[in-house]
Amino acid sequence: TERLFGGFRKTQQRLAENLTEAVGTARLDDATLDQVEDALIMSDLGPSAAARIREKLREKRFGLEISQEQLKEAVAEEIAAILRPVAIPLEITAFPRPQVVLVIGVNGSGKTTTIAKLAHLFQEDDYSVMLAAGDTFRAAAIGQLATWAERIGVPLVRGPEGGDPASIVFDAVKAATDRGTDVLIVDTAGRLQNKRELMDELSKIRKVLGRLNPEAPHDVLLVLDATNGQNALNQIDVFREMAGVTGLVMTKLDGTARGGVLVAAAEQYGLPIHAIGVGEKIDDLRPFDPDLVARVIA
Ligand code: GDP
Repeated sequence: TERLFGGFRKTQQRLAENLTEAVGTARLDDATLDQVEDALIMSDLGPSAAARIREKLREKRFGLEISQEQLKEAVAEEIAAILRPVAIPLEITAFPRPQVVLVIGVNGSGKTTTIAKLAHLFQEDDYSVMLAAGDTFRAAAIGQLATWAERIGVPLVRGPEGGDPASIVFDAVKAATDRGTDVLIVDTAGRLQNKRELMDELSKIRKVLGRLNPEAPHDVLLVLDATNGQNALNQIDVFREMAGVTGLVMTKLDGTARGGVLVAAAEQYGLPIHAIGVGEKIDDLRPFDPDLVARVIA
């Protein structure tokens, strides 16, 4: 656990500190429940998850004596109950192949790195993978994806800087189909400062994909940076409207105290959380284990 999730330590410390302040009395009364709820909100779990956890604690333990340790455990159990329904791995099931995974998210969220990590995970499961450099707006994005592709040994379909992302995606699907590739992962631009353009670009990509295969994209993965806290949740709203979202990956859970936002996202949106990013290295993408995560948060 320590090796896998040592990165959650800051989130855990924060919640523990906040909870410690909450437990003044030995019996679980309304005042204590208020404090627990506040502690959860301050730890980025969001008002809705905080209220739900409070209510469960009240139902199960009101008026009973509860130690610090028992409170922590009870909170962890309720967090796990919120996370379990959304812990859904990204499965490769598309027929015909390839399964097209469109990856969206604002610049800096960890999109490119997550694509490389995902590709690596799929490779380890013996799936063949291809990448498409659909973020043609930033020259650096193409270069960075190319570097990862070379490092992990997967083919990359790319075009010139400023090229048409939809045409790159078209070429990539053709190439992946010809080769019988299992998974095609498509990078996209993340210029949220120009929503109209980005929305047009994403919908054009979707249209091209849909023409080649009515089921594509099979997955629309939104990459969120946990360090943005509640702001990451706003991005879910924006991208759902803009491109549709079928699942989430939350990155940078190492080194932030805002890991509670994972629980807020699960509670408020119910979207599958496929994986979490806990570092910058290629194998720092973890399958989302709700019980483990709940235990390390609380
Ligand atoms: P993009 O602009 O969305 O494509 O973001 P990048 O993939 O370039 O990532 C932005 C920065 O975040 C890079 O320095 C990555 O190494 C870093 N990064 C991505 N994922 C994680 C993560 O899970 N943990 C940490 N600590 N850094 C990450």
